[in-house]
Amino acid sequence: MISKIKERMLHILTLRSLRARIFVLMLVIGIVPSVLMRHGIVNNYEERAVEQRTTAVQNQLMIIANHLISNNYITNYRSQEQTFINSREVINAELDMLSSLYEGRVMIIDSNLKIVKDTYGISEGKIMISEEVIKCFRGDNTSHYDPEHGYIEMTTPIMDTTSTTSGDGNSDANAVRGVMLTSISTDSIVTTMEILYRNSIILEVLMILAIVVLAMILSNILIKPFNRVTEAFMNVKAGYSDEKISVPDYVETVHIVDAFNQVLKRMKVLDDSRQEFVANVSHELKTPMTSIKVLADSLLMQENAPAELYREFMEDIVSEIDRENQIITDLLALVKMDKKVQDLNIVALNINDLTELILKRLRPIARKKDVEVVFESVRPVVAEVDEVKMTLIMTNLVENAIKYNKEHGWVKVVLDADHQYFMFSVSDSGLGIPEESIAHIYERFYRVDKSHSREIGGTGLGLAITKSAVLMHRGSITVTSTEGEGTSFLVKIPLTYMGNKS
Ligand code: ADP
Repeated sequence: MISKIKERMLHILTLRSLRARIFVLMLVIGIVPSVLMRHGIVNNYEERAVEQRTTAVQNQLMIIANHLISNNYITNYRSQEQTFINSREVINAELDMLSSLYEGRVMIIDSNLKIVKDTYGISEGKIMISEEVIKCFRGDNTSHYDPEHGYIEMTTPIMDTTSTTSGDGNSDANAVRGVMLTSISTDSIVTTMEILYRNSIILEVLMILAIVVLAMILSNILIKPFNRVTEAFMNVKAGYSDEKISVPDYVETVHIVDAFNQVLKRMKVLDDSRQEFVANVSHELKTPMTSIKVLADSLLMQENAPAELYREFMEDIVSEIDRENQIITDLLALVKMDKKVQDLNIVALNINDLTELILKRLRPIARKKDVEVVFESVRPVVAEVDEVKMTLIMTNLVENAIKYNKEHGWVKVVLDADHQYFMFSVSDSGLGIPEESIAHIYERFYRVDKSHSREIGGTGLGLAITKSAVLMHRGSITVTSTEGEGTSFLVKIPLTYMGNKS
């Protein structure tokens, strides 16, 4: 249990679990935009607020600057004339109002860089040399935001828009008579920003929590069909049933389940064929046993049976034992075929010699049936094959051609090759195979005519063995047959062994 949890944790940490990946993905997709949005909103607010405040103050300053010009504030700032004193007081009040409204400080600097008015009242009469002020005298408005110290500093030119004569005698319009150097506090912006920031953080934390919960729920929901697939597989583990599994939630699960259903179908076919094989084997092995028992019983039942009868029955018993033996030998050969391809003992072999040898061995049987065996070698063939299996292939085919032949028939073996394969065909003038049986002749224990086949010693395993041996060499076997006329098997095997390339 603990190791299972550990394994799951490891899968989650290394993102090997699909659920973990979906979870992380949703988290990233949900959280990153919300963080970016928060930053964007707060920064944007700051920019806009500073901009708005600057323009608002600049506008007011321009109005005041016009008042300053129309009242000759700069040139007459020391004048004791009552009218000047009055207008000066009005303007000073305007300036004080502006600076208190924006928590700022306004300084008016004349063309000699002398501070003629400071709303703080501490720098009047002093000289102000600053880059911004000098720039402003050239007609440039400047504004500078210092977020660290929390203020905006700006300069506003005091322009004489009326046509006047300057001190040096030149008449110039729009002359800069002085500069207003203003700094206003951005404390209120900062405070609003802090509130905004705090609220957005709270909102963000809530959003993250909601996203985490949502991601957990969704990743669980999304993964569910896969769990159902596993569950369905587990249920099948107990035993194959005919019932197909179906998890139609996703195209992917449908693909997985389809593939599994196909494997299941194949397993079922294999299972069925195994059961059928076991049943067939038992049946085939039982038949000679039953015969032996019947023969022995009938001998036992007859008291004083003549010696000739004993002999006759014993001969039958021996032939049944031979048959049993033959079936077992074939079964063993078949089982060996089912083993791995690695068991092949591949050597370069002269196929012509091998064929001659096999035919030499089989000719006595053929002679007994008065069947002529002819060998035609188109060219000498040397190929990489397993000698034992190759012998089995050839022997089975030629033996069948002799067994299922007519009296005075013939068997023709032709050996040929191209640059890649060697081919040998075994044709006969025999009984032929009915069309409907051709598809079944390679099946284990299949015999076209059971009683006839048994009579001539067939087990129904020969062609099954032959086909497996051919396939092990990555070759092919085909058959053409006409009932009553004869059969021809063609085997094609690569000259060079291609190994296990599956
Ligand atoms: P068996 O041991 O019975 O010969 P095989 O697997 O070798 O089994 O062959 C299967 C069946 O195919 C045989 O029972 C026979 O009916 C048919 N068969 C095989 N070879 C030939 C052939 N050359 N001519 C006619 N029938 C054949």
